[in-house]
Amino acid sequence: SPKFQIVVAGTGAVGKSAITLQFIAKQFVQKYEPTIEDVYKKMITINNQHVILDILDTAGQDEYSSLRSHYYAKGDGFLLVCSYDNFSSIEEILEFKETILQAKDVEDSSQVPILLVVNKCDLSNKDRVFSRKEVDDLARLYDLPVIETSAKNGTNVDNAFHKLTTQILKQ
Ligand code: GDP
Ligand code: MG
Repeated sequence: SPKFQIVVAGTGAVGKSAITLQFIAKQFVQKYEPTIEDVYKKMITINNQHVILDILDTAGQDEYSSLRSHYYAKGDGFLLVCSYDNFSSIEEILEFKETILQAKDVEDSSQVPILLVVNKCDLSNKDRVFSRKEVDDLARLYDLPVIETSAKNGTNVDNAFHKLTTQILKQ
């Protein structure tokens, strides 16, 4: 079976670990150690084809950004995560995208599978600091496909990994 490296990227506390663990173990972990960087393995089936995913749940801050480029270079596909309760997380998307393109040594995002993931869609409008419309505008501007997820209730978590893997298979 083909084996792909998936990198779960994005700023702190957006739910990268929660999404990864919901996908791997179908569990929501309320409090997860923010500094743990770990790799998980899961087999999925797309169009009757088995695919093995090695998922890197990234962590840590900007001081490790050279390390980050090193991880990104090995990635076959990227879940670039922001969350509805964190305005800077959406502001930082462009920076993460640029770092990925540099690490992969490509000119634009059509050459590398990146899926923009807007997590915590279980939050009500009063707890959101930006709207779905703002997300769609940004995704169009940055030329990224987008999906909303909730690691808390599981909404679209499997779909995000499936959608990204489909992007990788088409590459
Ligand atoms: P990471 O730093 O990006 O890995 O973020 P974590 O997975 O550690 O999650 C950060 C915080 O957000 C934790 O308190 C989680 O319980 C919470 N969280 C993660 N995903 C969701 C979600 O989909 N909905 C809600 N309401 N909270 C979430
Ligand atoms: Mg984490």
